[in-house]
Amino acid sequence: MDFRFTDEQRMWHDTVHNFMEKEVGREYTRKHDESREFPEEVFQKMAAQGWLGLLVDEEQGGVAADPVMFAIFCEAIGKFSLDTAACIMTSMFTATNISRHGTPEQKARYLEPFLRGVGKFSISISEPGSGSDAASARSTAHLDGNEWVLNGNKVFCSGAHLPGATIAILARTSAERYDGFSLFLVPNTTPGLDIRKMNTIVRKSLGTTEFFMDNMRIPKDALLGEVGKGWHYIGEHLEFERLSIAASQVGNAQTALDDTIRYTKDRKQFGRSLSDFQVLKHRMAEGATQLEAARLLVYSAACKMARGERAIREVSMAKVFCSETLFKIAFDGMQALGGYAQVPEYDMERYFREAKHGMVGGGTNEIQRSIIAKELGL
Ligand SMILES: Cc1cc2nc3c(=O)[nH]c(=O)nc-3n(C[C@H](O)[C@H](O)[C@H](O)COP(=O)(O)OP(=O)(O)OC[C@H]3O[C@@H](n4cnc5c(N)ncnc54)[C@H](O)[C@@H]3O)c2cc1C
Repeated sequence: MDFRFTDEQRMWHDTVHNFMEKEVGREYTRKHDESREFPEEVFQKMAAQGWLGLLVDEEQGGVAADPVMFAIFCEAIGKFSLDTAACIMTSMFTATNISRHGTPEQKARYLEPFLRGVGKFSISISEPGSGSDAASARSTAHLDGNEWVLNGNKVFCSGAHLPGATIAILARTSAERYDGFSLFLVPNTTPGLDIRKMNTIVRKSLGTTEFFMDNMRIPKDALLGEVGKGWHYIGEHLEFERLSIAASQVGNAQTALDDTIRYTKDRKQFGRSLSDFQVLKHRMAEGATQLEAARLLVYSAACKMARGERAIREVSMAKVFCSETLFKIAFDGMQALGGYAQVPEYDMERYFREAKHGMVGGGTNEIQRSIIAKELGL
């Protein structure tokens, strides 16, 4: 068994990491976190590189990266902040849905401009009464002549407020638990849509919203794909989504650990470097060990997906383990940096906040454990 990247994978790894160091960097990331601004320049530069199309087929203008190349990308773009990674990745999954199920008109209207950096997507599944139990969502859509009429209340829809954003809204078109959902493409300027920003402690650059649909009318052709297939379309990219989250957590955990090592070597108390104290040294050694295992889980799941095999269990394992690894490393980093961990200039408080969210977003760790148990036949 060979655990090394191929030459092509190594080159791709170096390309994206160099991009993140030169074109993004810590100061830019920190500033955008503090001011809650979307990193538009980064988004535009990634569009210019063609990277927004990593999950879109070549015939549709994309790159069709394999899961290992995609994981390498996600690990790199998460290195300074999971929020930066989310700013890029959130749109990519809806782009995949449109490339697979969109009409030629929808592709021309949404997909082609997106690949050029014009427009963004957000995904709206969660509602006040349905989070983990997403299939109990109650927002409705019914056809009235040539228009769909949508009603309901959605929460935690990341990026829905951004200029030029189109929201992929999951709404009920009939009562069946899973086959009753359809997916609609709704520009955020649509009359009848009332979007309000939520004041979350994470996803500060991307931003998260709740919105209300009060007899919101959209044209018949806003439906993506077929009626009753919305739940299945969302599910199609779940493996990629969980893989991407886990990979970006590995990237972020590496930075948090490196920052902790650097700080404890530099900082002196009682005439010695903090890194000389065994208690801190052991915590960093444990973090490094856990991180090595987390990275192997990500790339092992990605390799399985690249072979075309089902990897539901493996991506859930990776997501649980990587999020808890990042949380442990950031938690220990908070302690090792003492009071300085608590000011934004040292970045650790951001890693820590975002690590906590990583155990909830994209399906909580309890739900991931239930999926793993189900895959074990339990
Ligand atoms: C910053 C942020 C951004 C988000 N972005 C989006 C987005 O863009 N689009 C979107 O649709 N959603 C988004 N979400 C919503 C996110 O997916 C949900 O928060 C998540 O799925 C959990 O749902 P909930 O918050 O309602 O918690 P709940 O489902 O109420 O869960 C609360 C607790 O109970 C546990 N629990 C629930 N059911 C079980 C069970 N069967 N067994 C064991 N434990 C259980 C959970 O694991 C959790 O610990 C976002 C959330 C946040 C915070």
